[in-house]
Amino acid sequence: MKIRLASDLQLDSVVDGTGIRTVIWTQGCGHHCPGCHNPQTHDFEGGFEVDVDEVLEEIEGLESQTGVTFSGGDPFYQPEACAVIAKHVHKNKMNVWCYTGFTYEELLSMSKKNPAIMDFLNQIDILVDGLFIMAKHSYNLKFRGSSNQRIIDVKKSLKDKKVVIAMVDDVEADSNRGRYEKKGLYV
Ligand code: SF4
Repeated sequence: MKIRLASDLQLDSVVDGTGIRTVIWTQGCGHHCPGCHNPQTHDFEGGFEVDVDEVLEEIEGLESQTGVTFSGGDPFYQPEACAVIAKHVHKNKMNVWCYTGFTYEELLSMSKKNPAIMDFLNQIDILVDGLFIMAKHSYNLKFRGSSNQRIIDVKKSLKDKKVVIAMVDDVEADSNRGRYEKKGLYV
C-alpha cells in the first residue's frame, strides 16, 4: 500500500498537538480554504508516493516523541493508509492527532459509504476538525487556526455518540476556554 506525502516526516514539533510530536504531512486537499498556510499540499498529484511499510519503519525508530500528528493536505483523502500507520503509532505507545478540513459529523456520514474512514477515526485520539476560516483566525488559539475548528476527543465522542471536546493541558490555558462546556480526557 502507498501513501502520498507532501514532505518527509517532521520530528520534534511542539505546535501540532500536545508534547513533542512527529508530523506526517499528507499530500492532497480538496477544501481550498482561502488563506491556507499549505497550498502546496493541495494537488492530489503533487508531493511523492511512498510505501506505507517505509513509514511504519520510521515510526518504529522514533525516540522521545509523545505522538504522531497527521496533517496536510487532508489525511482523510487517504484513510486506508493513514489507518494502518495510526494503528502502528499506537502499537509503539504514542498517541495520534489528526487535522482535517471535514467536520466530525461529515466524517461520520462519509464513513457509511467508505468504512476506511471509520477505521481511521477509530485510531485517532484527538481530531482537529473543520475548514480554516480566515474571518475566525486568531493567533491566540492553540493547536488550531480558526475558532470554528474543534479539538475533539474522538474515542469519547464515538462512545457517547456526540462531540466531546478534549481538554488537553495547553488547550485549557487557551483564551477560549470558556466556550468549552464539557471536559474530556487529558492526553
Ligand atoms: S483543509 Fe487544511 S490543508 Fe486543506 S485547504 Fe483547508 S487549511 Fe489548507
